[in-house]
Amino acid sequence: MALKGIVIDPGHGGSDPGAVNNGIKEKDYALMISKYMYDRFKSLGVPVSITRTNDITLSPKSRINKIKSFYGNSKDVIVISNHLNAGGGDGAEVIYALRNTNSLSKKILSELENSGQNVRKYYQLRLPSNSKKDYYFIHRDTPNNEAIIVEYGFVDSTKDDVNQIKNDYKKLAEAVVKAVCEYKGIKYKGVSNINNNSNYYIVKKGDTLWDLAVKYKTSVKNIKDLNNLKSDVLQVGQKLLLPSKTYIVKKGDSLWKIAKEYNTTINDLIKNNNLKSTTLQIGQKLNLG
Ligand SMILES: [Zn+2]
Repeated sequence: MALKGIVIDPGHGGSDPGAVNNGIKEKDYALMISKYMYDRFKSLGVPVSITRTNDITLSPKSRINKIKSFYGNSKDVIVISNHLNAGGGDGAEVIYALRNTNSLSKKILSELENSGQNVRKYYQLRLPSNSKKDYYFIHRDTPNNEAIIVEYGFVDSTKDDVNQIKNDYKKLAEAVVKAVCEYKGIKYKGVSNINNNSNYYIVKKGDTLWDLAVKYKTSVKNIKDLNNLKSDVLQVGQKLLLPSKTYIVKKGDSLWKIAKEYNTTINDLIKNNNLKSTTLQIGQKLNLG
């Protein structure tokens, strides 16, 4: 199936926070999910654009104009509008346009399910005043694009959504990346150990895979696998996904020793890990920042 490009649309932004509860602001998580997704499509070689990369207010009109400006009105354009839900439920939903089939939505929900999120439904929604039209402008005003709204979970869930959003939003975003690749026949290469501590690193002059492997406590092979690299040569400015820097406390460790070894400070270790005391337990996991 042809694909002209993917437009990622982080919902809300600026003066419109979207749903807010349990320490989650929809606009912020929509942006984090979207940026992650953008980077992943880029690394898979898929043409991709994004409607906002920071906390700005976008009116429906300017959002739609932006979307159209990237790849036009073609039906071979996928628009993914990322949102979180509210209203007391639990689980993910996908809303698709009246003009489209449910194939992509179905795939997305099944990948979200594989990632550990429970799923509710995929559906279409009609404007009450004109049932020929979509309820949401993101469907209604992008006339030919394949436009979907993904609701990853409920910010006011009393079940596991709040934790899943806070701890595993990258995993949820990855599920959508995988589903879109399947849907469009794009060769998908997954990332292992994806979690919210995995970070994108911009290659600087003089960096080598070996240096980065040492610095990030991983192997050259792991970095190559994570980023689907065919060669050992890095380009300045290249974006690399690096594994989380989690340290597991060994016998004889102290904060001072770990700070020194990992080029950080005792204060940062205390701050990054919300430590109440400087006494460490063997097996304790520390975020090295
Ligand atoms: Zn929303």
